[in-house]
Amino acid sequence: MAEKLPDNVFLTTLDAAASWARKNSLWPMPFATACCGIELMATASSRFDLARFGAEVMRFSPRQCDLMIVAGRVVMKMLPVLQRIWMQMPEPKWCISMGACACTGGVFDTYAVVQGVDRFIPVDLYVPGCPPRPEQLIAALIEMQDIVQKTGTHNGREFGRRTTATGPIPIELDEIRRSREALPIVDLPIYNSPNLN
Ligand code: SF4
Repeated sequence: MAEKLPDNVFLTTLDAAASWARKNSLWPMPFATACCGIELMATASSRFDLARFGAEVMRFSPRQCDLMIVAGRVVMKMLPVLQRIWMQMPEPKWCISMGACACTGGVFDTYAVVQGVDRFIPVDLYVPGCPPRPEQLIAALIEMQDIVQKTGTHNGREFGRRTTATGPIPIELDEIRRSREALPIVDLPIYNSPNLN
């Protein structure tokens, strides 16, 4: 059948076509909290032009997004918000952790700063640097497109192919204790925390 088709017609599978469309229309959800957020903004500017990769449609409603970009340090107080936004994004969804602070806490080795957002939400790609340049974020986005292309679309297969956890994980006991020791008067709201007793 393929030989009988004219040159300007080609055949593919629905799965491949849907994955191709999805990878070229990622809608980022910016969770930008600090200096890395400025580089994220620069990435969307005309100088670097994220639109070339179909990912310029930044939305501030999680229900319209499929790619979270955490750019900047996240403090413990922001964590419930970050987790809630992640949970509100529909599947399939992906996450890029941008910059040393988001990936590891960076230079902020304190009880108040999250020492890596991947302890609380699943991260697919890490962008190193303090701050990373927009070109690095674009390189990560291109790599992300490859991941999206490979995940497939039918029957929720994308979930099975992911190598990272698919939801928030509990805050570690040590982290909770450190927080409570540092702030003994405040009863910290902890989401998904295990029983301390
Ligand atoms: S990694 Fe560097 S540039 Fe990015 S938020 Fe942290 S201190 Fe700022």
